[in-house]
Amino acid sequence: MNRPPTPAIPDRYACLFEPVQIGPVTAPNRFYAVPHATGHGWNQPHGSIALRAMKAEGGWGTVAVQMCEIASDSDLASHPMDRIWDDGDIDQHRAQVEAIHHHGSLAAIELAHGGMRARNFTSGQPIAGPGNMAILRPEVPLQCRAMSLGDIRRFRDSHKGAARRACEAGYDILYVYAAHDLSLLSHFLSLRTNHRTDNYGGSLENRMRLLREVLEDTLEVAAGQKAVALRFSVSEPGKAIGLRHDGEGRDVVEALAELPDLWDVNISGWSEDSATARFAEEGFQLPYTDFVKSLTSKPVVGVGRFTSADLMVSLVKNKRLDLIGAARPSISDPFLPAKIREDRVEDIRECIGCNICVSMDSYGVPIRCTQNPTISEEWRRGWHPEKPVQPLVRVTSSDKPHHLVVGAGPAGLECALTLIRAGHRVTVAERESEAGGRLLREARLPGLSSCLRVRDYRLSKLIKSASANLYLSSEMTAEDVIEFAADSVTVATGSVWSNAGEGSTHTAPRQDLSKQFHQVLTPDDIMKWMHDDTLFNANILADRLPFVVYDDEHFYMASVIAEALAEKGAHVIYATPLPGIASWTDNTLDQDRIIERLNKLKVSLHPNCSLAENGSFVSTLSGEAIVFASNGAERTPSGSKILVMAGIRKPVEDLHNALLEKRAENQPAPILFAAGDCKVPGLIQSAVYSGHTTARQILDPSVDMRVIRREHIIMS
Ligand code: ADP
Ligand code: SF4
Repeated sequence: MNRPPTPAIPDRYACLFEPVQIGPVTAPNRFYAVPHATGHGWNQPHGSIALRAMKAEGGWGTVAVQMCEIASDSDLASHPMDRIWDDGDIDQHRAQVEAIHHHGSLAAIELAHGGMRARNFTSGQPIAGPGNMAILRPEVPLQCRAMSLGDIRRFRDSHKGAARRACEAGYDILYVYAAHDLSLLSHFLSLRTNHRTDNYGGSLENRMRLLREVLEDTLEVAAGQKAVALRFSVSEPGKAIGLRHDGEGRDVVEALAELPDLWDVNISGWSEDSATARFAEEGFQLPYTDFVKSLTSKPVVGVGRFTSADLMVSLVKNKRLDLIGAARPSISDPFLPAKIREDRVEDIRECIGCNICVSMDSYGVPIRCTQNPTISEEWRRGWHPEKPVQPLVRVTSSDKPHHLVVGAGPAGLECALTLIRAGHRVTVAERESEAGGRLLREARLPGLSSCLRVRDYRLSKLIKSASANLYLSSEMTAEDVIEFAADSVTVATGSVWSNAGEGSTHTAPRQDLSKQFHQVLTPDDIMKWMHDDTLFNANILADRLPFVVYDDEHFYMASVIAEALAEKGAHVIYATPLPGIASWTDNTLDQDRIIERLNKLKVSLHPNCSLAENGSFVSTLSGEAIVFASNGAERTPSGSKILVMAGIRKPVEDLHNALLEKRAENQPAPILFAAGDCKVPGLIQSAVYSGHTTARQILDPSVDMRVIRREHIIMS
């Protein structure tokens, strides 16, 4: 077969494609997809394998699989991780390795014992830790038992057994895992969790003993045929007692410097390592991990939501890292290395750091991604992030179907892009003078600017395509749409925040909210003026009254509105009927930081505080009226407060409904779809996914999106 010649690697990126020796194995390049949870675990192996294989196909020279439980006494229960408990698991892993090897990449496995993070609900085994203490999940009322010397011996044996099985499955790199506070080895290392008085406790040398022993055991099993990596969190920012990169974290690296074949370094816990873009910039871990290379001759891989090829080059050239590690950037764009290799960096779908992927894993389901609608669909739907969708009817260059998309938010843009990639023509009509829809509005809020990447990736391709037209400042009516006579019409007109007081706990609109507050605003009102201080002062702050931001949505919006108002000098009260602040952000790992920031900005926080029909706030626990005890606001009657209501959004469905009516009246009406928030308001991720699936339905009407390939269990 004649293969097209591989294009030469651009000189400026050449160093990223150099091979790297890792002990006895060689990584073909410096792109390293580090272990990360996928929500497809041991029980969804096909999905997991296809997801990892896609990264290998996209050019990641090393692809690691997710945390893999070494034995049943390290059972993470509702989190579907990988398992290599016994020989019965080997075939599944072998298939995973083969899928990664098929594309010429190395396969790595993160062997792990969850220690005080395990739950053992499935196995029923006692949870193991350095001492008799509560496990490290305060919301789970379980304790772990202090490991005896016999337990330690058995743990080492089971780690060795897992390492042996991993070798048999064909993995090239075996991990020893001591990171994220998610591993027994970290629990032995840290003074926070290790209070032992024997040879495994006390001095750092003693606390490090088990880690050293397990590293030596694993090297023994690897027998010079496989590489052994140590995944180690060098620092635990935010923890009063813990490792520091300029303290014991550094001492551990110094002491074990030449033992592993590879250092995979990061910071702990997981919320620090996977910080959202709202709180951390690209490269945020470098100040912590930079020192590692100076203490070891072994290759070092590090992470930091890297998406910039120039930054990657500088990290290698300045000897800060040998391998460019990525979890989220490799989810958002599994073909990131291939695009750099082909000098197409502008085609990279850059991670926006929103942690929707993490939130899905927190729910124990296959991950989704805001930027990459095809993630987790590789096996179950056969989707590919780069290959165009095959239309049911082949198109010729002279006879391309022409579609109309109304609305250039995430749904409309993704729909349009998927259509033109498949060889169709698209016209996008947008009411505003700029494309982006909600992305444009939300990007103005503190810390959210990276969401514009969702627009920019798609828009830049539409603008360049001869098959796409974008009309801005073009509000469409039903008559305009019909006159346009497109082959199909997708209405992606978005949603608006409701000011009627409905939310997730109070499901009905309220009467007369506007009589009870000086003004009732929504996040849309705040976002409208955010870009201009003068306009903001004139339109939002003019009355100098306190704001009550009422969160009955429970994701990020109310918290970021409170932050924005407080930053502009307003007196802000945040109230929510749930016991937690911005509750769902616990799943995106930034709840703690949100609370810290709001506290810093002196926003007074009122959980368990419900907005009553009469406009007063009452405790959901006692039913008593709540007095907001901050800055004199309690003396302000509710009529002199401004309410910012973050509850639900209403779909903007007038256009879609008008077109449906025309059809009902038997008037000529186009083939019609609704996509994104105008169909059902949701996450930005849901809008992108909806735009993508709508395009697929247009291209192949025979596809029924409700049909999903599933991992059926074969009854033995
Ligand atoms: P989604 O998240 O579903 O993509 P957005 O609210 O982000 O929704 O985007 C919807 C876009 O649709 C907005 O940019 C809005 O200006 C645009 N829009 C709404 N109604 C019309 C209309 N009648 N004609 C053209 N554009 C419209
Ligand atoms: Fe990045 Fe968000 Fe996608 Fe996760 S969901 S990979 S954070 S863009």
